[in-house]
Amino acid sequence: MGRMIRVGINGYHTIGARVADAVKKQSDMQLVGVSKVKPDYRARIAVEKGIDIYAANERSLESFRNSKMTVKGTIGDLLKKVDVIVDATPDEVGASNKLIYERAGVKGIFQGGEEHSLTNLSFVAQCNYGQAVNKQFVRVVSCNTTALCRTLHALERGSGIERARAVLVRRGADPDEVSKGPIDAVVLDPPTVPSHHAPDVQSVMKGLNIVTMAVKVPETHMHLHSLLVTLKRKESREVVVDALESEPRLALVDAKTGVKSTAALIDMAREMGRPRNDIYEAVVWRDSISVSDNEVYLFLAVHQEAIVIPENIDAIRAVSGGYTQEQSMKATDDSLGITTGTWTT
Ligand code: NAD
Repeated sequence: MGRMIRVGINGYHTIGARVADAVKKQSDMQLVGVSKVKPDYRARIAVEKGIDIYAANERSLESFRNSKMTVKGTIGDLLKKVDVIVDATPDEVGASNKLIYERAGVKGIFQGGEEHSLTNLSFVAQCNYGQAVNKQFVRVVSCNTTALCRTLHALERGSGIERARAVLVRRGADPDEVSKGPIDAVVLDPPTVPSHHAPDVQSVMKGLNIVTMAVKVPETHMHLHSLLVTLKRKESREVVVDALESEPRLALVDAKTGVKSTAALIDMAREMGRPRNDIYEAVVWRDSISVSDNEVYLFLAVHQEAIVIPENIDAIRAVSGGYTQEQSMKATDDSLGITTGTWTT
């Protein structure tokens, strides 16, 4: 690996704070600082962790000064010191930031809340790392799309996919989003078919025949997908399990060990000592994998707050150049303790 990549984070909350901690763990990256709107508890904890804070704008600068918190300047000052900025601001705010990144001449990583057309390059490391090499702007796809791409990549690589169908049960909100719902409903999200996830998967896996439907439920910790895939040829269950088991960043769990819910998965991550109980892997229940001729059925769980963190780290390396997909993914996985294969704990 070559020189240190200087990284900044714009938007420091669910995704941004996790990417910041992950950047700090990379031996080839330096976290220059993060940009925040408010001098809240997260800003205070960031300072305690030794992270430099930059105000998101002039008004933010004023509120940081009023609260007697030290800031190193504004986002403009941060952009002068970085090679790559990771934009983790809320959905569609990133698009309005692209111009300031262009003017500053920095590379930028956007998140799944932005449209594919913002960068024309939607990224999942194991599917299309090479396409992102030396690009100025890349969009890491959403949590659900990342999980679908990893899982479908395993099946496509192994046997070829005729068509894929997925029903997504989405968490209503992240754990700290108290103003969001639903509290007591299953919400069609959206009522029409397909949900946006199918075209989003196609933005990475071009030409894949996929349809997705989604609902939202009163739950905060994970999403759950029911995935039905028709392969191009008949396969044994063993071959399908092997393909999933050897796919990077995909964990298989066994319900017989007591993991029968998303709650149990989060508990497992806590017991494994994962920071913030983060599950970076897409998780497939081994027991659910059923194969009949060329039809495959399975349940897939997605920790929305964590699954895209390794992709952000790989996207930073990809746009910086000088690394192969294998080198980058290995460095990321080793530093974050990411596994491939069955969780045996
Ligand atoms: P978030 O609301 O948790 O955090 C966004 C942060 O950005 C907040 O601290 C907010 O105050 C700050 N912010 C708002 N405007 C800003 C600006 N102009 N400049 C700097 N900071 C600003 O959002 P999130 O959940 O981390 O989502 C960020 C992106 O990641 C979105 O595109 C989202 O779709 C995507 N994403 C989110 C999840 C998830 O489950 N939370 C999963 C995958 C992808």
